[in-house]
Parts: sequence; structure tokens; C-alpha cells
Amino acid sequence: MNSAQVAALQTLLSTPKKIAIIPHKNPDGDAIGSALGLYHYLLQLGNDVKVVSPNDYPKFLKWMPGSSDVLNWEKVNSSCVRVLEEADAVFTLDFNDLGRTGDMAELLKTLPASFVMIDHHREPTDYAQIMFSHPDMSSTSEMIYHIIAALGHKDAITKDIASCLYAGIVTDTGSFKFSATTVSTHHVAANLIERGASNNEIHTLIYDNNSADRLYLLSTALQNMKIFPEYRTSYMTLSSEELKNHNFIKGDTEGFVNYGLSIDGIEFTAIFIENEEEGLIKISLRSKGDFDVNTFARTHFNGGGHKNAAGGRMIGTIEETTTLFESLLAKYKTELAS
Ligand code: 5GP
Ligand code: MN
Repeated sequence: MNSAQVAALQTLLSTPKKIAIIPHKNPDGDAIGSALGLYHYLLQLGNDVKVVSPNDYPKFLKWMPGSSDVLNWEKVNSSCVRVLEEADAVFTLDFNDLGRTGDMAELLKTLPASFVMIDHHREPTDYAQIMFSHPDMSSTSEMIYHIIAALGHKDAITKDIASCLYAGIVTDTGSFKFSATTVSTHHVAANLIERGASNNEIHTLIYDNNSADRLYLLSTALQNMKIFPEYRTSYMTLSSEELKNHNFIKGDTEGFVNYGLSIDGIEFTAIFIENEEEGLIKISLRSKGDFDVNTFARTHFNGGGHKNAAGGRMIGTIEETTTLFESLLAKYKTELAS
């Protein structure tokens, strides 16, 4: 961690403050794990801390200690507004552009608070006074561990903090499988287990609590899969009708996209999921090796993320989106063709 940024953070935290912690909209395991890990740490330092989430998050993350304290911007809006307006400091976690908080962004832009960004996505925008931006890190949760260590407080990592950070690392690394997983990631994970994170229990809580509906939805997505061996590409789709037929609840499609990459010879994959309410198609993109899906998402689908995992959206139907996607495969022939 950059020592000037650590020193600035140390100064900010030298006296107790009113602090708001914000994960990105549709928070995943890393966003919630890092937010709650930091929450417990800052509470220990004597701060008045609230986690304000832009919207709800999936059930398989709600076991995390402190989850019941999280305020949902969409449910208790006036309390969230008050917390944000009164905050001395706002920590934004696992995102690097205020637009990733949805309609909360308008208020965030007007706040007098000091902003601290802690994030591992590429191409950060410039809104924070203190900025920890490390695109080479596996996860924001791993960054929180390094920041607590850099502040000299490794011993303050309790079982609750360790469990939240471990969950964030596991989910963002695909259980230590993705390419951003490093020696340091494993050292941090080992330290978190030493500090009380129960690795076996956490894996079970996250991955072994499927509903039957979710697995049937996965089977529908797999049946819809199209494969383009000549471009080493595959994609899946899910229409809003298919989601309804399987009683879709938030989080059900998390991780589906990775199945498209598990086929031998496939290095680029996508899933297109219809969001009828918002009139758009949500897109998740994944790659192996050199194909940069962050740039692809930014250029064609109004999104972004990391080199090997990114997301975006398109206003239109599934058919319009997949037609565009298929036409792009030919354009990227030199990068994709085997
Ligand atoms: P997912 O496909 O799981 O929604 O997202 C994959 C990665 O890309 C995550 O790290 C997520 O934070 C990031 N991401 C998803 N959608 C967007 C987007 O619209 N803009 C940016 N900048 N990043 C995104
Ligand atoms: Mn992350």
C-alpha cells in the first residue's frame, strides 16, 4: 500500500469520525465482505460507522457478521440520506466511479465529506481525497487486509473481520482460481483462517445453499448456450420470462457466466440477462488470457471492470444484443480466432 495514502488515512482516523461505507450497486461478495470487514474494524477504533448499500444483495451473503446493520438506500432512503449528509468521511469500496452507486451518485457528488476509495478495478475516476487503487489485487477484501496491516493493526482482525474478508476473497477469486490470485492472496487467506475465519463453513454458506429453482435456471441458461469455436467464444442468455418461470430472486444468476469459460478451447464468454423493469440487457463478460473484456465492455456495452471480468448493459432486446455481440466477434477476429 502506498505509504503517503496510508499516512493520510492514519491522519483521517486519528480521531473518531462519523463514517459511511458504500459498496457498489448490486453488491457481490467482495463488495459486502470488504464493506463489513472495514465496518467492524472502524467500529473498534471508536468511530460511528454505517454501511449504506445502494440496493439489496443476495441471501447467500447475508450470513456475514454485521449484515443486519446494513442500510439499504432503496428501502430506508431518508435514514441513508441523513447518514451520508452527516458523514465526516465516506469510504467507497469495490468501485471506482460514483456512477456505480446508481441514483445515490447525485447525492454523493454534493457531500462535504472526505472520500476514501479502496478498489481494484481499472481506470479509476478522480473523486476521492485518499485513493487506494490496485487493479493487480485479487479483491477489495484483500486490500482491506493490507490496509489494516499497514496501519499496524493486524492484531485488531477479529473472527468477524476475518470471516467477512475471507468471504470477499473467495467470491472474487472464484475460490482462488482466477488469474488475479497471487501468493499474497493465499498468505492473506491463511492469516484470516488463523484469525478465526472458518474456511470450510464459509464455502458451504456461500456455495451450498442453492434453491432447486436456481439450479433449474442454470440448466436453462446452459441449454441456451451458443458456441463459436472459430472465435473461441460462447454465450448464454436468460429472458425475463425464463427468470420468472424459475422464481428468480436476486443473486440467482451469480457465477453462471463462468460455465461458458469452462469449455475446453473457449477463452471468451458472456451472459445476457434481460431486465424487463429497466428495459435493458445486463451483460457479464469473462475471458482467459489476453483478451481484455474491460476495454470490450467500455467500448461496446457502456460498462467496464477488469481485464478478465467485466460487465455492461445495452438498451434493447436480447436478440438485438446478441446480434451486435455476434457481429463484434468477426471484428475482433485477430484477437479471438484460434
Ligand atoms: P459482473 O459481470 O459480475 O456483474 O461484473 C464483473 C466485474 O465487472 C465486477 O468486478 C464488476 O464490479 C465490474 N462491472 C460490472 N458492471 C460494470 C459496469 O457497468 N461498469 C464498470 N466500470 N464495472 C462493471
Ligand atoms: Mn471486487
